[in-house]
Amino acid sequence: MTPPRRWRPTPLILTALLIHPGALVAVVLRPACWPWALVAVCLAHLALTAAGLWPRSRLLGPNWTRLPPAAIARGEIALTIDDGPDPEVTPAVLDLLDRYQVRATFFCIGERAAAHPALVADIVRRGHALENHSYFHRHHFSLFGPARMRDDISRAQTTLARFSPHPPRFFRAPAGLRNPFLEPVLAALGLTLASWSKRGFDTRDGRAALVLARLTRKLAAGDILLLHDGNAARDAAGQPVILTVLPPLLDAIARAGLTPVTLNPCQP
Ligand SMILES: [Zn+2]
Repeated sequence: MTPPRRWRPTPLILTALLIHPGALVAVVLRPACWPWALVAVCLAHLALTAAGLWPRSRLLGPNWTRLPPAAIARGEIALTIDDGPDPEVTPAVLDLLDRYQVRATFFCIGERAAAHPALVADIVRRGHALENHSYFHRHHFSLFGPARMRDDISRAQTTLARFSPHPPRFFRAPAGLRNPFLEPVLAALGLTLASWSKRGFDTRDGRAALVLARLTRKLAAGDILLLHDGNAARDAAGQPVILTVLPPLLDAIARAGLTPVTLNPCQP
């Protein structure tokens, strides 16, 4: 397992933590001010909830939304592929990546990895990175308490760590949604939250041209692109949209002179 990190609360979390005893003291000293104390506590909760519903926010803790500066200087870009492995789509994605000699980062769902171990082994054997995308990928993940969050993430971590000499070092929340309990859990498990700079919405939009346009608009070094091999929408021909989009996307990356790399927390 990866060594734990130290959890450091962000200014927003510290403020929210301080508002609670502050409101209590205010009500004890001046009971008439209870409506203001209640408003202050509600605003703190509202701010925390809004930060958790914004996938690229750093208000609740560290969050990779782009590659580090040195990687940007080298002209690197990261392709991240979520929600697999999928027995129909993942093998075709792996073949396409081989054809372009590109390495990607697969954020796999633990439950699916346990159901398709040969596919996960193939992802690792072909040189791609394997990262943690929760065990059950529950849509209400952002409503979990700390214990349930830790159980789900560490179960996925144990499942995925069997396949690679390097256990996962990044976590991506289901749909990118989270709450303030996530960062202390990730710190204890030695994981870092990773989101993205561009996504194609390829789980709900099968229009390949639009998905491609979202991913390639202002394509630049440091971009972390999000696609899906699991839960992929179908294009007009009934093909999983990632399979239609990947070849022109990889061509655009090459034309822009960018080098696809896997996510690496040691990246200087
Ligand atoms: Zn997902």
